Amino acid sequence: MTHDVNDDGGDPDGDDERTATDHPTADPQPGVPRLGRDERPAAFLPRYDEPGGAVDPAAGPEPTASDRPAATDGGAVDGGSDVDERDPATAPAAEPADPVDAFPAGELDLRAGADSCYKCTACDTSCPVAEVDDEFPGPKFQGPEQWRLKRKDDADVDGSITDCSNCMRCDSACPSSVPLSQMHNEARGEYVSERMQKLSVEYVRNRLLSNYETVARVASRVPRLANFVLGLGVTKWMNERVLGITAEREFPEFATETFREWWAERGGATVSNPDERVAYFHGCYSNYNTPEVGRAMVRVFESFGYEVLVPEQRCSGTPMFANGMLGDARRAAETNVESLVAAIGEGADVVASCTSCSLSLRQEYPELFDLHGIEDLSDDTYEALEYLRIHEDLSGALADAAVEPTDLAYHAPCHARNQGLDRQAVETLSDLEGVTIEDVGDSCSGISGTYGWKTEKYDTSMEIGADMFEHMAAAEGEVGMTECPTCAMQMEHGTGYEIRHPLQVLEEALVE
Ligand code: SF4
Ligand code: SF4
Repeated sequence: MTHDVNDDGGDPDGDDERTATDHPTADPQPGVPRLGRDERPAAFLPRYDEPGGAVDPAAGPEPTASDRPAATDGGAVDGGSDVDERDPATAPAAEPADPVDAFPAGELDLRAGADSCYKCTACDTSCPVAEVDDEFPGPKFQGPEQWRLKRKDDADVDGSITDCSNCMRCDSACPSSVPLSQMHNEARGEYVSERMQKLSVEYVRNRLLSNYETVARVASRVPRLANFVLGLGVTKWMNERVLGITAEREFPEFATETFREWWAERGGATVSNPDERVAYFHGCYSNYNTPEVGRAMVRVFESFGYEVLVPEQRCSGTPMFANGMLGDARRAAETNVESLVAAIGEGADVVASCTSCSLSLRQEYPELFDLHGIEDLSDDTYEALEYLRIHEDLSGALADAAVEPTDLAYHAPCHARNQGLDRQAVETLSDLEGVTIEDVGDSCSGISGTYGWKTEKYDTSMEIGADMFEHMAAAEGEVGMTECPTCAMQMEHGTGYEIRHPLQVLEEALVE
């Protein structure tokens, strides 16, 4: 089976945006059976011990507040079950259980998940948008309350769902494992599909931002010209006036050689090792804008003896989920799942250098799509540094290493927190000779991918990021570090600092 990576899956008439409830009627992949939700294993579970503790892969995953059972664990659709399987106090022992048919009509239905909410408001107090925007009703309303309303009278999704930035902090905050981000993604998809005018400026702008991959592919054919044109004041003015894309930000520069061009020019992997293979999911940004991160990933993994595969891939779908473009996201996921599952079949684990990409492959894919092999992909995907910490003696490798003296102000992306990875960079690099590293706190950067690029969201985005800017300014040195490319944009925008990825620091320390 082949996919044309040059097919962006675009839909010129914009009519085919589907919600995930369209699964049963979506075109199946030829020859691939469609799995029902009740055939899936549990979705992503973080694999770390407590922050600060040693990584022990043999110990297996520790349940945390952000752990969620499979979508089928939501209990009976009528909500009448006495046993709340999300509640550790009442959940049955960890015996293999018969699948619960939570979606008997074959459609995704999260209304039952709303019953797990006991209105503690922990999600609301963790929401960075609600903190700065009094008008935003918060995650509890966007999630369980809306889904309860839908059960009562099948109410329309409230328009305020578009004010959620998809930072997913509410997921980690909920002590009852209510599938908040899944509810938000579904609600956004339904809102865009049913209520957003397909000829409106908002829809066109959001579709364009969601499909950054397509824009970047075209721009990267003429990167110098694209950078020149996008940097012009008149272009920024037009983008703001016509499309609602803020003129306050500098458009990220396109690299003159993409990561994949570098990879091809290099002749692919320089290490052959069928016993230790990783398939690199570079995502759009490391390919088109910061190939130095992708190159660092390859060199660091090869220095540990890994054979690196670079499979065919498309956008992880993160910006599409955030904008309710579930049809676009599904098309991208079909390519990614097929290609990455094939790499897993060749003995590779999947590693991503962007924490939003790894979260998407691990959590959002199995929450939103039924695709053959999607559960294998979820189980076998890791963030790059996480993977090295699990499989290699990084402390030993770094013990005799050194880098040029650098004071790093580190920001943990919200999507890293969701995977239990928010301390990994500090823990790994704090003993490296030459590095002084300071965690700038647990606030959200505020940009949340495409969110902070929207004119009407720019001020909110900067208000949310204010804490991070302040802590960066108070930190020693003027170099920032993070695993998320859009957090890096926001850090640079708010402080003017150079921003690095932890893999680049590892490359400097470990690669000749
Ligand atoms: S995803 Fe983030 S912005 Fe959206 S409701 Fe949850 S905490 Fe708030
Ligand atoms: S944190 Fe969870 S249980 Fe508490 S109000 Fe929010 S959704 Fe409900």
